[in-house]
Amino acid sequence: MIRQARGKTPRRPALKKPPNNSNLKDPVGVYCRVRPLGSEDQECCIEVISETTIQLHPPEGSKVNRNGEFKETQYSFKNVFGQNISQLELFDNVAKPLVDDVIHCKNGLLFTYGVTGSGKTHTMTGSPGEGGLLPRSLDMIFNSIGPYQAKRYVFKPDDKNGMEIQTSVDALLERQKRESQTSAPKTPSRQRPDPEFADMINVEDTCKAEGVDEDSVYSVFVSYIEIYNNYIYDLLEEVPYDPIRPKPPQSKILREDQNHNMYVAGCTEVEVKSTVEAFEVFWKGQKKRRIANTQLNRESSRSHSVFIIKLAQAPLDADGDNVLQDKDQISVSQLCLVDLAGSERTSRTRAEGSRLREAGNINQSLMTLRTCMEVLRENQMYGTNKMVPYRDSKVTHLFKNYFDGEGKVRMIVCVNPKADDYEETMLVMRFAEMTQEVEVARPVDRPICGLTPGRRNRNQAFKEELTRKLEERGGPVNGDLENPSTIEILIQSLPPLPPCNLVDVNDDQTLPRLIECLEKRHRIRQMMIDELDKTAGSFKSMLQEFDGTLMAKDNFIQEQRGKLGDRDRIITGQKSEVDRLEKKVKTLEYKIDILQKTTNIYEVDKRSLQQELETKDQKLQRELSEKRRMEARMQGVVSNTKMKWEKECERRVAAKQMEMQNKLWVKDEKLKQLKAIVTESKSERPERPERSERPEKPERPSREKDMVKKRSVSPSPVPNAPPVQPRHRRSRSAGGERWVDHKPASNLELDTVMQPHVPNAIKVSVPNEKALSKCDKYMLTHQELASDGEIKTKLIKGEVFKTRGGGQSVQFTDIETLKQESPTSSTNRKRRSSGNAPVQQEETTESEWTDVETRCSVAVEMRAGSNLGPGYQHHGQPKRRKP
Ligand code: ADP
Ligand code: MG
Repeated sequence: MIRQARGKTPRRPALKKPPNNSNLKDPVGVYCRVRPLGSEDQECCIEVISETTIQLHPPEGSKVNRNGEFKETQYSFKNVFGQNISQLELFDNVAKPLVDDVIHCKNGLLFTYGVTGSGKTHTMTGSPGEGGLLPRSLDMIFNSIGPYQAKRYVFKPDDKNGMEIQTSVDALLERQKRESQTSAPKTPSRQRPDPEFADMINVEDTCKAEGVDEDSVYSVFVSYIEIYNNYIYDLLEEVPYDPIRPKPPQSKILREDQNHNMYVAGCTEVEVKSTVEAFEVFWKGQKKRRIANTQLNRESSRSHSVFIIKLAQAPLDADGDNVLQDKDQISVSQLCLVDLAGSERTSRTRAEGSRLREAGNINQSLMTLRTCMEVLRENQMYGTNKMVPYRDSKVTHLFKNYFDGEGKVRMIVCVNPKADDYEETMLVMRFAEMTQEVEVARPVDRPICGLTPGRRNRNQAFKEELTRKLEERGGPVNGDLENPSTIEILIQSLPPLPPCNLVDVNDDQTLPRLIECLEKRHRIRQMMIDELDKTAGSFKSMLQEFDGTLMAKDNFIQEQRGKLGDRDRIITGQKSEVDRLEKKVKTLEYKIDILQKTTNIYEVDKRSLQQELETKDQKLQRELSEKRRMEARMQGVVSNTKMKWEKECERRVAAKQMEMQNKLWVKDEKLKQLKAIVTESKSERPERPERSERPEKPERPSREKDMVKKRSVSPSPVPNAPPVQPRHRRSRSAGGERWVDHKPASNLELDTVMQPHVPNAIKVSVPNEKALSKCDKYMLTHQELASDGEIKTKLIKGEVFKTRGGGQSVQFTDIETLKQESPTSSTNRKRRSSGNAPVQQEETTESEWTDVETRCSVAVEMRAGSNLGPGYQHHGQPKRRKP
């Protein structure tokens, strides 16, 4: 195995990869192929349930599991191929990518794993008429590199897993040497494949890899080894066969090359030029294997076979004509096709003795393979750094670099659905599923050699052009200068030599004739030489001209290349710009998206708000119309009421006017009467007491009789001739006086001890005609608020008379005043009786006196039906006081 740009493989810690390695890793691709049952009536234990999953059913009568129940198990792989999968489909799915990789300088490993008889060999090698992955891979390689194959021996294995290169001349010499050594030439077999395997390599569906480097030359080398009992045997080694004492085959050892890749030291590598040739080599090895197994009594199913296809490639030189003689430019990739030994346990093979030991070893190698996979998986999954026991078996040791280094690894698990294999198949499935979790570093692309691409085509075109030009000028075609016919024609064009046999000594004609002829010929020759020189000169100048044009073209190409480079740079710049813009567009799109979403939200909001607004508007409209209706109604009501009240007022005014007229009339009457009285008793008219004469009055006029006396002085109703008829009175001494105790409801209840005590009284809150008619005394308890915040309570007493008009009239005779602090005032809660403030009382009494006097001159006319209302007023003049 040779890889590009690989230095020493370091002993790596598990999770640390050298930085030059690609960090990309791919899991081992595990595919499952289910072969058809041997016969129809066999029990089938496997069911393909999807493209990636199979299900195992325990066979009938098998041991049930611990829970006493049959358990179906499912296993998933990258792909599961059922019984009807064709070899071609399998190749396209599994091997084709590996072959493609090999052509592009990347290594691949493909192995089949499974129980004996499960179809591993059928899958890898194929069966008659059904070529397996191996012949198909070879075919694809040769189809792809066909026109670019190097001449045999241009590449030469160097016995250290490397490749050397030699010129085509050296290669030709070696070819001739080898062909002379071997009796039969190798090449003819290329045409006719051995009928034994002809139908296995008759691959009708040719496929080709894409992007094959046309400016390289390629060579394919194959080797075929067998690993049996942990020994490696070269199946292509040519050992002289001694029929008398046949030598047992020599085993080979594994070595590590300078790139730390493992290889079988001294292993034969056969250069092959076609699928047929390659498969012939393989078939030879296969035959040898069979013979050896029979001779040595080995069981072939217990050996691993490894077929290695090595592809060497080297770039063409700058002219595009010959391969570049630079060993460092050679790259070698390989595809290993491994047909592993049957994975069944020894017990099944019923082997004994050394066979058993051998089988144990073979099993050991598969065990090691399993262990290696497990450790690898663990290291990768948990970041541990356990040592992977590659060296424990030759198989794992040989492929160590695929897992340690890089490459593509694929495994086809072959299963036979028959019941006998159930147990073994389960183990195979478990191993296969686990293997999928192992990851292998993806191979990196090889560096480009630096020479201009398209060299081969350019060279080809040049050669073709040269041939065409030569043809045009009638020159030699195909370089066929030494064609004898041309020389013959030339010789024929010369004058024929005369017979030159000298029979006579005196013959003097023959020689001169000959001389003449020769001289003629010499002249012609000279002419021809001149002609040739001329032609050569013109050809030379043509060549120079051609060289010039070529140079110019080269320059032009260089120029174009430069321009192309510029364009490339511009394109790269534009690409990065495009990338940037794309990114921007993405961000903007994202922003637009967000804005769109926001807009949507707002629109929804707007719609709901509009709806709300509309409903509110409607409501408002409704309310407005309601209000207008209401207003109209109210206006109607108001105008109605107004009209009603106007009428009522008019009516009342009229009534009042009537009443007032009546009153006026009554007063007029009274005045007339008074006038009459005055004119009748002019001499006895009493004098009104002078106010200045009254200071000697020490007490309040509380006694009624005094009052009566004094009142007689007042100008208006006189006791002797009242305007009314005095009512019948009960004797006072008999205590038969009856009082009307008038206390307006608005009066405050004063909790003073100085309460008037009126026995045998009718208590009223408004003047009551009925009550007045029953009594002959009247007392009004009147309260008012004095300016100093005190409550003034007055007891206004009078006598009740019957008027001529049939009503009652009260003549006030006495006033008692009680001044008291307002019960609501918080500043001074002291109470005063009128006796406690004589001076004030003096004043009050005096003023009240005048007042009462004035009042007493007025008789209150209370008639039935007269509506005085609460605003009861004394008609006293000139001073008016509210009660
Ligand atoms: P293994 O190599 O695993 O021991 P083989 O490839 O030798 O098994 O297969 C055993 C037999 O089964 C062969 O005769 C082969 O032709 C046949 N066989 C295996 N797989 C298939 C298949 N997919 N289709 C048809 N025949 C198969
Ligand atoms: Mg086999």
